Amino acid sequence: MKPKFVIARFQHETNTFSPIPTPLTAFHPLWGEAAYRDQENARTAMGAFIHLAKEVGAEIITPVCAFSNPSATVQADAYQTVCKHILDAIKLGCDAILLDLHGAMVADGAVDGEGSLLERIRQIAPNTPIAVALDLHANVTPKMVKNCNVMVSFKTYPHIDMYETGLHAGQLLLDLIAQKIQPAIVYRQLPLLSHTLRSNTQQGAMKLAVEAAQAMEKRTGVLAISILAGFSLADFHDTGMSVIVITDQLQDPKAVLANQLADELQTLILHHADGFVYASIPTRKSLENATALAKNAGHGPILLLDHSDNVMSGGSCDTTDILEAALSFGLSNLAVGPITDPQTVQQLISIGLNQVTTIELGNKSGWTYRGQVKPPFKLQGKMIAISDGRVLVTGPIFTGSTLQMGASVLFETEHAHIVISSERVEPYDLGVMTSLGIQLENKSFVLLKSRMYCRPVFLPLSKGFVECDSDQGGPSSSNYRWFEFKQIRRPIYPLDLTALPN
Ligand SMILES: [Zn+2]
Repeated sequence: MKPKFVIARFQHETNTFSPIPTPLTAFHPLWGEAAYRDQENARTAMGAFIHLAKEVGAEIITPVCAFSNPSATVQADAYQTVCKHILDAIKLGCDAILLDLHGAMVADGAVDGEGSLLERIRQIAPNTPIAVALDLHANVTPKMVKNCNVMVSFKTYPHIDMYETGLHAGQLLLDLIAQKIQPAIVYRQLPLLSHTLRSNTQQGAMKLAVEAAQAMEKRTGVLAISILAGFSLADFHDTGMSVIVITDQLQDPKAVLANQLADELQTLILHHADGFVYASIPTRKSLENATALAKNAGHGPILLLDHSDNVMSGGSCDTTDILEAALSFGLSNLAVGPITDPQTVQQLISIGLNQVTTIELGNKSGWTYRGQVKPPFKLQGKMIAISDGRVLVTGPIFTGSTLQMGASVLFETEHAHIVISSERVEPYDLGVMTSLGIQLENKSFVLLKSRMYCRPVFLPLSKGFVECDSDQGGPSSSNYRWFEFKQIRRPIYPLDLTALPN
């Protein structure tokens, strides 16, 4: 008889400080056959799970594929609905469970989103092998580790090994089913709140840690090692860095090696703790640096990367602090965007092209600055282009997919060309600007609400970049002083300088 595999994808990186709500519709859920068709050839962990299941001739059940961009705590009915589909599929009986999860989900009524789901699965199917693929930014909890057999995370950021991670986790599960291995999972939670801008696996302390893990993975008896940077913008007990080591108990009977490697990695990471901390500088200083870079030889604009408000970290995409600062600092010939403001888009479309008008841009989603919602930014100019906001992504991230900005316009002021969109959009494709006619190579500065996703596409045509944090914070600010952490375990570095061992 064919073995039966349940394969599902349920992903959310929760920014508990975000003003953007997370209802079921944010996940664009696909159920059953539709989930299968969507993921069958996708370069995701779920795509890899399906690939492996086909290879062994398994019957494949795909209850759901649900993915939402980062935003606030997941609404209870959204969480329960997706969980129910997964649990109902498992209740019918299966031989393996493969889950493509993010690992940093906080839901109303289930703060440990993935841990609670896995615990419920374990209750229904106590003896069925479970494999989990995670994002490198997962906030891993004891409950998550306890309720699965295999757990493997990405080793790259920007993430380019989603599929490979699925193959890795899935193959280990197949080997377990074939009784070739007996995985032992060892987990270490570190007293370290690492910053997203310091989890680039090509640089600094994170590179060092991932390379150490990769070298250890080559040792006899080691099955997988994951270095999880965590996602810091979540006020949750288990937020922060962790390490997962999986060895084969057939070769490492008492998990002595697993514990030894986990300890070594913990020591290495904590020794380089400062390499995981990011210190924001005042906006003005960033703009001064940008002006200095602009004087260098070479062609192309200087990128201003606004990391206080990124969609891919739960940002509202509508704060105007860096734009205001850049204009009052005196920067000109600036391309900006997208800034999300559906109300202003509709107003401009109703006024028509080339009509000089004053708009009240952004700051409408409710990010509060010292308890106050900031008023919109008044700007005079004219709309010079309109589009339906559909952009075919040319890559290298999400190549071939369609990015949906919703109805969008290009607004021209004396010193800036501003893309205003109806939907929140992380600028990971040049099309977010070029589709409205902006010629990026002719611009002096390009202001993007992005910290990492924009880099593979915008850096090659630029002369340099500066990271800009708002002095007034923002939903994804890099300065922890804007966020009140009440639930997180203490002590934790850098909130508590005493958190590190001597
Ligand atoms: Zn991530």
